[in-house]
Amino acid sequence: MKTPLDTCAPVTLFGPDFPFAFDDWIAHPQGLGELPPERMGTEVAVVGAGMAGMVAAYELMKLGLQPVVYEASRMGGRLRSQPFEGGQGVVAELGGMRFPASSTAFFHYVNQLGLKTQPFPNPLTPAAGCTVIDLEGITRWARGLADLPPLFQEVADAWASALEAGAGFSGLQEALCERDVPRLKALWNQLVPLWDDRTFYDFVAQSPAFAALSFRHREVFGQVGFGTGGWDSDFPNSMLEILRVVLTGCDENQHLIVGGAEQVPVGLWSHAPEQMRHWPAGTTLARLHQGAPRSGVTAIQRAPNGQFTITDTWGNTRQYAAVLVTCQSWLLTTQIACEETLFSQKHWMALDRTRYMQSSKTFVMVDRPFWKDVRTQGALEGWPTLGMTLTDRLTRGTYLFDNGPDKPGVICLSYAWMGDALKMLPHSTEKRVQLALSALRSIYPDVDIASHIIGDPISVSWEADPHFLGAFKGALPGHYRYNHRMYSHFMQDRFPEAERGIFIAGDDVSWTPAWVEGAVQTSLNAVWGIVRHLGGRCHPANPGPGTVFDQIGPVALPD
Ligand SMILES: Cc1cc2nc3c(=O)[nH]c(=O)nc-3n(C[C@H](O)[C@H](O)[C@H](O)COP(=O)(O)OP(=O)(O)OC[C@H]3O[C@@H](n4cnc5c(N)ncnc54)[C@H](O)[C@@H]3O)c2cc1C
Repeated sequence: MKTPLDTCAPVTLFGPDFPFAFDDWIAHPQGLGELPPERMGTEVAVVGAGMAGMVAAYELMKLGLQPVVYEASRMGGRLRSQPFEGGQGVVAELGGMRFPASSTAFFHYVNQLGLKTQPFPNPLTPAAGCTVIDLEGITRWARGLADLPPLFQEVADAWASALEAGAGFSGLQEALCERDVPRLKALWNQLVPLWDDRTFYDFVAQSPAFAALSFRHREVFGQVGFGTGGWDSDFPNSMLEILRVVLTGCDENQHLIVGGAEQVPVGLWSHAPEQMRHWPAGTTLARLHQGAPRSGVTAIQRAPNGQFTITDTWGNTRQYAAVLVTCQSWLLTTQIACEETLFSQKHWMALDRTRYMQSSKTFVMVDRPFWKDVRTQGALEGWPTLGMTLTDRLTRGTYLFDNGPDKPGVICLSYAWMGDALKMLPHSTEKRVQLALSALRSIYPDVDIASHIIGDPISVSWEADPHFLGAFKGALPGHYRYNHRMYSHFMQDRFPEAERGIFIAGDDVSWTPAWVEGAVQTSLNAVWGIVRHLGGRCHPANPGPGTVFDQIGPVALPD
């Protein structure tokens, strides 16, 4: 498999379904477009103050519109950095926490806000220092792949071969890196009908490379996998989804945001853009809202005058020329009374068939990064006290965060998905900590982790929160058409009048769910759609996603 280092251009989240350069579009000096003068100051409702909602609101403000943001829960959405009580600002990253360098549109905003990043301590990376892999009761310590038995290298090689044989991986990635749109589309469009109907597990099990090896190799791949590790939770997913992850480098070269990822969406709230139409210098979203977003939305209806009537938790109603919905799509049938005629039945099918994955995380704050203490005796002499840990026990992934010499450390005792997350669902945070400590005791019998815990632990189960109902989308085989309908929804010229003016964006509209870059890119699509809906257009020197969608949009499969 080719790596980014082998190609002259970096791997970015450039397609592959819709290879549009969002990063160039948002950085262009001509801006994202312009609106007729009479539209300046027009209010647009934005439902949800997560990354998609904030990016859209920020860009719409820059265009001279007045975004009105509604938030039912916490600003930041699934970029949620929960501070520990008394923890001097140290946080538990409950949602997105590791951001691949290929997320170039996301990092555009990170850089604009001047936030610091550092390499994320993923398994077998220098940032982790030491990785401990505990499978079937055998614990192995490693600084890199070379420290592990040959079976692990065989698994890595088999995965590279499977990608090459099943998807022509290196040619595809080269086209993506070089932003060679015709080549990329020709290669990717062939794969769509081939792999939409088939699972990730099918891809692995049927590949000649894995078929030539033992079942044990497949098992180890499921537990340790590639990049971030532990990919067996995704085995039932459509193989297309996994191909996108590896192709666009989502699984490698990841960074954390120092101080917490929530600073990105929340930072946009109080950031005054350098260039803005209509609004005086220094205007921010916070100022336009007198400080806080409006509360949660309970109803979206079409008013007799053609506008949208939005009702909030307190029964307040306001009318808007356009509305952007960024919350999980299931909430359009569980939290929000959304008039049925606003979407076609085909779109409702897609919105409701979206499938979410479950995820739980359990964190503790500790007095200091004691795991760095080097062992001075025994068989493990010279190794640190603990390492980043991947295991088949219920913790699955344990991550260690050193916040510097003057601050407490943080341990994510357990980061688990799907069945492993459901095991935690009914339990209190304290019970989750006990369960995790008990599992870790089997791996580190000589380390008393509990003796280092300070403050209150923190845990999350996204599927238990009525404002989310799941962590992120995980498309199943056969879901390509649903993804296509949702992703293309911002192209509304061919819609009947009754279905125009309401837009959707966010993680579950994206082709790369579980990666924030997808939420950002769909949000930018929606900005294009809203500008067009309100009679605006892009500058000819900076065509937007909708301008080129008919030429390079995602391939359509027949219904
Ligand atoms: C556990 C987990 C781990 C992840 N890891 C990574 C990672 O490592 N790297 C990465 O790049 N991405 C990761 N992601 C994905 C990333 O966090 C998401 O793609 C991104 O944050 C989604 O942003 P969004 O705006 O689409 O949705 P959200 O952040 O969900 O925003 C939608 C907002 O709508 C609000 N809302 C709901 N109902 C209403 C209502 N009725 N009225 C008003 N507001 C409402 C919600 O409260 C929420 O704030 C992870 C996500 C999770 C959950």
